[in-house]
Amino acid sequence: MSFSNDVRNELAREMGAKECCQKAELSALFMSSGNLSLKDGKYILSLTLDNAATARKAFKLLKNVYGLQSTVNVATRRFFRKNRYYTVSSEIDAKELTTLTHSINLNRQGGISSRINWALIGKSCCKRAYLRGLFLSRGFINRPEGSYHLEVICNDSKMAGDIQKLMGLYDLPAGMVERKNNLVIYLKEGEKIVDFLRLVGANKALLDFENVRILKSVRNNVNRQVNCETANLAKTVDASLRQVELIKQYVETSGWEGFPGNLRELAILRVEYPDYSLKELGAMLDPPLTKSGTAYRMRKLESMLEQAAGEQ
Ligand SMILES: [Zn+2]
Repeated sequence: MSFSNDVRNELAREMGAKECCQKAELSALFMSSGNLSLKDGKYILSLTLDNAATARKAFKLLKNVYGLQSTVNVATRRFFRKNRYYTVSSEIDAKELTTLTHSINLNRQGGISSRINWALIGKSCCKRAYLRGLFLSRGFINRPEGSYHLEVICNDSKMAGDIQKLMGLYDLPAGMVERKNNLVIYLKEGEKIVDFLRLVGANKALLDFENVRILKSVRNNVNRQVNCETANLAKTVDASLRQVELIKQYVETSGWEGFPGNLRELAILRVEYPDYSLKELGAMLDPPLTKSGTAYRMRKLESMLEQAAGEQ
């Protein structure tokens, strides 16, 4: 199952204790996925959702908050990848529609507006419930194992602008991009996605997301360290091969007796132990030398050998 569905299933179980928040969440569902039509003098209010748990939640909220009985239908879209969708619909009269204006923001034409009714979500608890409703109906999130991405698909530019503004109130700087005929509001930063999940109350998804994020950062650090160690090792080996080559050339013409003073011992050790680091070679000298002492002596040896090789 997709991570989006995991998050939606978790959010669908989160009913919210306060009526103000339940109204706000319903409002988000209607704004993004609702439809109002008139048939034989009765209004048909419906929500089209592609997640079963969200449809059940909408059914419960309509009943708890407005006492409305609705029906849920499942249908299959022929040409879409997500082929199942759920329609929650209620038949209401004009009086009930008036009551519902707490959750439905009607436009001038008498349809459902795609703008946020800011008056309805004055309190922070309601703003968060509203974001939860938006994610339930139009949100998608990538698995944290992949690239970080959370988005809300919008019907039009006004809706997109409103959602961007709402997220901005929580320091979630959302980007906007046009895709096919929709506008998409998105977050790309792992930390901001975590903030979003926390805001809407997806606590389990938040933990899963954070665990993967920690694993990923540990793995990145380990890779960086291994790369660094490999690079150092390669440098040591290259230097050693060059030193051994110079020493052998020198021995051919001048013999081991030709090395001045304390350089002979180091030259012998280098040829015998080409894979040892300077620190290890230094420890074998008599008397032993520190790493920097050995490096100094090795530089002396190298410049002597290079000079000799140049004179030939
Ligand atoms: Zn509230």
